[in-house]
Amino acid sequence: MSTELLTIKQQLQARKAELMQRLTTLKADITMAHSADWSEQAQERENDEVMNALGNEARLELSKINRALERIEEDEYTTCRSCGEEIALKRLQAVPYTDLCIRCAGH
Ligand SMILES: [Zn+2]
Repeated sequence: MSTELLTIKQQLQARKAELMQRLTTLKADITMAHSADWSEQAQERENDEVMNALGNEARLELSKINRALERIEEDEYTTCRSCGEEIALKRLQAVPYTDLCIRCAGH
C-alpha cells in the first residue's frame, strides 16, 4: 500500500473513531434527557429529534467510511466502481468516500 493510501486509511480510521465517540455521547445524552422531569417532556422530545438527526448523520457517514475501508482492504479503493479505471489519488484525497472516478461522478 502506498504512503498516500495509508494516510487516507489512517484519516478514515481516525474519523470513524471520532464518529463512534460522538454516537456514544449522543446516546448518553438521550438516556439522560429521558430521566429528566416529566414537565420537561415536550422539550425532551424536541431534543430527541435533533439528537436523532445528528445520530443519523453520523451513522450515514460511518457507513460510508466502513465501505471505503472495506474497499481499501480489498484493494479496490482506487478502482472506479462504474468503469473500472483508476480513480485519481488527488480525487480520493479530496473525497475519500468516493468509489467513482471524476468522469463517472460527473455523469
Ligand atoms: Zn469511472
